[in-house]
Amino acid sequence: MKSKPANKIQDLQFFGEFGGVNPSISDSSTYTFLSANSMSETFEGNMKGCYLYSRNSSPSNLYLEEACAAMEGTEAANVFSSGMGAITSCILQLCKSGDHIISSRTVYGGTYAFLKNFTPQLGIETDFVDITSLDDIKKLIKPSTKIIYCEISSNPLLEIADIKSISKIAKKNNLKLVVDNTFTPLSVSPAKDGADIVIHSLTKFINGTSDTIAGVVCSDKDFIHSLRDVNDGAFMLMGATMDSLRAASVLKNMRTLHIRIKKHSENAMYLAKSFEKDGIKAVYPGLESHPSHKVFSKMMNQEYGYGGMVTIDVGTLEIANKLMEKMQYKNLGYLAVSLGFYKTLFCAPGSSTSSEISEEEQEKMGLGEGLIRFSVGLDQDISRTYNGIKECLKELNLI
Ligand SMILES: *Cc1c(COP(=O)(O)O)cnc(C)c1O
Repeated sequence: MKSKPANKIQDLQFFGEFGGVNPSISDSSTYTFLSANSMSETFEGNMKGCYLYSRNSSPSNLYLEEACAAMEGTEAANVFSSGMGAITSCILQLCKSGDHIISSRTVYGGTYAFLKNFTPQLGIETDFVDITSLDDIKKLIKPSTKIIYCEISSNPLLEIADIKSISKIAKKNNLKLVVDNTFTPLSVSPAKDGADIVIHSLTKFINGTSDTIAGVVCSDKDFIHSLRDVNDGAFMLMGATMDSLRAASVLKNMRTLHIRIKKHSENAMYLAKSFEKDGIKAVYPGLESHPSHKVFSKMMNQEYGYGGMVTIDVGTLEIANKLMEKMQYKNLGYLAVSLGFYKTLFCAPGSSTSSEISEEEQEKMGLGEGLIRFSVGLDQDISRTYNGIKECLKELNLI
C-alpha cells in the first residue's frame, strides 16, 4: 500500500468547544475533578479522557501528538519542549547503567555530545559506527547492547541509513531501533520500514517558521505510556514539557507541511544539480552521484522528494565563510544554524553545528572544514537564487 502520511494528518478533525475549526487551547496547568475518587484513579492512570496536570499531558498537546503519530504511522506520540528533550528522554528511558548503544557516527551535534560525554557518566557506553556499513553494525553488538540509534539522512554529511536492513539486524538481536527523522519528514516513514521509535525536532521543517523549539517521540502505546509514567517515566520526571499555546501553533503549521516539503525538495534538487553541473562538489540524496541514491529512492515516499538539505564543499573554512557572507549580503539566504525555514539558511557545520565533534574525528568521518550545509528555502524563483549564488562563486574564483 502506498503511504500517504499527509492524508493521515489532514483526515484528523479537531474542533473548538464552540464549533471553531481549530481546537480550543487548553490554557490551564491543572484540572478539576468532580469527585475525589476520580482524581486518585487518574493518578494511577486508570481514567481515560481525564487530565490531571499539564506536565503529564494536556488536550492541546494530545492533538499535536495525534497528528505526529498519524504522520509517522505509529500508535502514539509524545511532544516535548525540544528535540533534545525528546532524544535524551527517549535514550534514558531505554538505557540504564551498564547498557550499550550503537550510534551512527554522523548524528546531530547535541546528540553526539550527549552520547559521547554525558551518558558515560551514567554508566551508558556508546560505540559510533559508519551507519552505511551493516557489517560494522553487526560486529559491535554485544549482550549489553540495547539500541541502535541513527538519522535517516545524517547531519551534516547526508549519509543515508537503510532502515529496512538495519531494522532486521535490530529485530534479530532484540534491540530497539531509534531513528531521528528531523531532516526528512513525510519523505521517509521509518516506522513503516521497521523503526521502533521515530524522533523529530519539530523546531525544523515540521513547524517551519523558526519561531520555536519543540520535539516529539513517535512509537507504540506502551513506550509512550512508559515515558509518561509518574513513577519512572523520563518525560514526566525530567519535565521537558511543551506549552499548550505552542502545541496549538505547531499543529496549525503542520497542516501545510506537505506543500512546504515538496517545494523544499524541488528547490534543493535544483540547487544540487546546478552546483554539480558547474563543477562544485555537492552532496544530495537526489543526485545519482550520491552513494546511497538507490537506497533512499527505494525507501522514500516519492511525491515528497529527497528533502531540503544540500551540502557543498569549497575546500577551506576561509572560503566557506567568505562565500556565506557574500550570499547573505546578496539576500540569497541567512548565515544561520537550524533548518526548515522559508528562507535558505547556511552554515559551516565543522565550526558550528558539529563543533562538538573533535577536529580529528571530523576528518575521519569526512567532515571537511570547507563544507557548507544549506537548508534550502521556499524560494518562488530558485533559478534566480542560483544565479545569485553563481555570481558569488565566480567572485571567489570557485567556478
Ligand atoms: C535540531 C536537531 C535536533 C535537536 O532539536 P532541538 O529542537 O534543537 O532541541 C536533533 N536532531 C536533529 C537532526 C536536528 O537537526
